[in-house]
Amino acid sequence: PETILVSELANRMAERTPDVIKSLMRMGLMVTGNQAVDADTAELVIDEFGHRAVRVSDSDVEQVIDQVQDKAEDLRPRAPIITIMGHVDHGKTSLLDAIRKANVVSGEAGGITQHIGAYQVKTESGALLTFLDTPGHAAFTSMRARGAHVTDIVVLVVAADDAVMPQTVEAINHAKAAKVPMIVAINKIDKHGADPQKVRTDLLQHEVVVEAMSGEVQDVEVSAKTGKGLDNLLEAIALQSEILELRSNPDRAALGAVIEAKLDVGRGPVATVLVQNGTLKRGDIFVVGEQWGKVRALINDKGERVDEAGPSVPVEVLGLDGTPAAGDVLNVVSTEAQAREIADYRIKAAKDKRAAAGAAITLDQMLAKA
Ligand code: GDP
Ligand code: MG
Repeated sequence: PETILVSELANRMAERTPDVIKSLMRMGLMVTGNQAVDADTAELVIDEFGHRAVRVSDSDVEQVIDQVQDKAEDLRPRAPIITIMGHVDHGKTSLLDAIRKANVVSGEAGGITQHIGAYQVKTESGALLTFLDTPGHAAFTSMRARGAHVTDIVVLVVAADDAVMPQTVEAINHAKAAKVPMIVAINKIDKHGADPQKVRTDLLQHEVVVEAMSGEVQDVEVSAKTGKGLDNLLEAIALQSEILELRSNPDRAALGAVIEAKLDVGRGPVATVLVQNGTLKRGDIFVVGEQWGKVRALINDKGERVDEAGPSVPVEVLGLDGTPAAGDVLNVVSTEAQAREIADYRIKAAKDKRAAAGAAITLDQMLAKA
């Protein structure tokens, strides 16, 4: 993930390093000038000093392919996309597993085996929710850095037998920087010594005021182990999703984000794509990062072949000419020639960028020697 030294951050803002350290302390991070902070945290600091952060990204040909403006009347509700974050061992993986298992109808094709890095569940009240199975702040940050905004709601897991920890603070900073609403899942309430109230008061110090403390952030007590409270968590997410009024247009060329990709021995390059707008169909021609392809097959989260995937639906895509990277954006285009042209352009742009970076290093090395 992208990071920056605290001293370098101060330098670029033309502020004093101790002032930047103080600002980070107020966010709950104890660092020295020689330590690095991640890009999201840096962005919050930059905001606090009243400067504007500019993240360098290659917006090369995006303009060409992303010009379609959806008309209001074409927009339909879509499922929210949820990422679970929190400190290591607080129960992210357990919670994802528990939610998946609780929602699998016995005998369903594939059972509870995990097929792809995301899955959809239906709540008691009938709302569809899409969970990203890539917990981890690095994944969240690198996707954001690549321009993929694949999270509508962050579920912050905090273990009730522990406390707010450094990665909890990091997750809070990520959610705030991305302006994504948070729901706090106070986990492990089955354990002896669990103290959910301590979690709530701890969070106050990080300006997260949960509903039980008269704030606006929903908090739900859960146990990934016993399943207690999981329904409440799902309903809290559904409620938050309604407030967000998430809409997209299923009747347009698909736009999506790669959440993972690999080279499969039998099937060739395979990408798991989360469709964000439009509907991805078999036979569609697309460009994704520096790769392009034609959809040969689509496989859903239950391992079934499907003909199409609409907004917020995760699918495995077969038919790529190479393996893209997580966070790459997929765009359906009209012709193979167009797809190839855009992919070639990006390959060349990336090469130029690397060459420029190489030259800069050489110059630095020369200066260092002089
Ligand atoms: P992650 O690092 O955040 O993904 O945490 P894990 O899901 O791997 O959980 C870390 C440990 O806590 C594992 O040993 C889990 O079995 C345990 N754990 C997770 N959730 C609960 C819970 O609700 N109750 C109890 N008692 N243990 C839990
Ligand atoms: Mg885990």
